Amino acid sequence: MSFTGDIRLELTEKTPDSPCCRLAALTGMLLLGGHVTFMGMGRYQATISSEHASVIRYADRLARLSANLAGEFIAVRTSQLGERTKYQLTFRNQDAVSLLMALSLWDENAPFCVSGKPDPGLFRRTCCRQSFIRGAFLVCGWVSPPQEGYRAELAAPDEKQAEQMKRVLSRCGISARVTQRKTQHVVYFQDGEAVSTFLKVLGATRAVLDMEDARAMREVRNTVNRKVNCEVRNMDATITAAQRQVEDIRYLQETVGLDKLAPPLRQMAEVRLNNMEANLSELGEMLDPPIGKSGVNNRLRRLSALAQRERSRRGEIS
Ligand SMILES: [Zn+2]
Repeated sequence: MSFTGDIRLELTEKTPDSPCCRLAALTGMLLLGGHVTFMGMGRYQATISSEHASVIRYADRLARLSANLAGEFIAVRTSQLGERTKYQLTFRNQDAVSLLMALSLWDENAPFCVSGKPDPGLFRRTCCRQSFIRGAFLVCGWVSPPQEGYRAELAAPDEKQAEQMKRVLSRCGISARVTQRKTQHVVYFQDGEAVSTFLKVLGATRAVLDMEDARAMREVRNTVNRKVNCEVRNMDATITAAQRQVEDIRYLQETVGLDKLAPPLRQMAEVRLNNMEANLSELGEMLDPPIGKSGVNNRLRRLSALAQRERSRRGEIS
């Protein structure tokens, strides 16, 4: 199952305990994943849709528990959906009106008495804000698998709902953006911290753990990569210097001969030639008697200077 599928499964397993939160979750589902239609002659229809039967069963549970309403459960299968099935929970006429009243979306002053704006009281308590987001996530949310990066989206049906969702998220400490994609207004955010907070807000405990694991792994991998890169750079520098030293020593060997050098320099030259990969302190330990890093550096420089002098004497300046 996908990461989002796992979260959905976890969220639909538990129904909110308090009545306030049940209403908040149902409001999120209807506003972001449903629609209300005025059929004329005082007839209404309120529908919540999802491609997942479990989500619609969850909405049904909430409606029964919080408003004592039972909607019609329908599965729609059309070729328009690419042979996918869409599930719907529909409330008709008086049931639709009762639902809207229970969710405080019935407003005598609004067009057709239906308000698209949730009651501000819904967002006063943290528990209800979280439940609203949870309901919305179930009908229109998506979170990328943590191994593939950090991004979460809520595809709202219109700009008003998208902006509303952005405000609620911001009150939960998540700063989101809104972008338009075809007919949808997508609320999204893409950083590890925000996605992690979002999963906590949703109450998706298992997903939070998966996410933290993935983030820790990535952190470790980055640190290791940084360290390796740094070591490789240092090693490259050591090798380049060693190659230059060896070139100089070979030049002296071919021109003046190493046996013409003073014994400490000659020993140094031989040790360097035979140990390409050793660093300065390692070279120092191989000498008899051993000497320190700066002593080695000094002797190698003298060898290079001798080679340089020999080259210029022969008119081969490099
Ligand atoms: Zn609540």
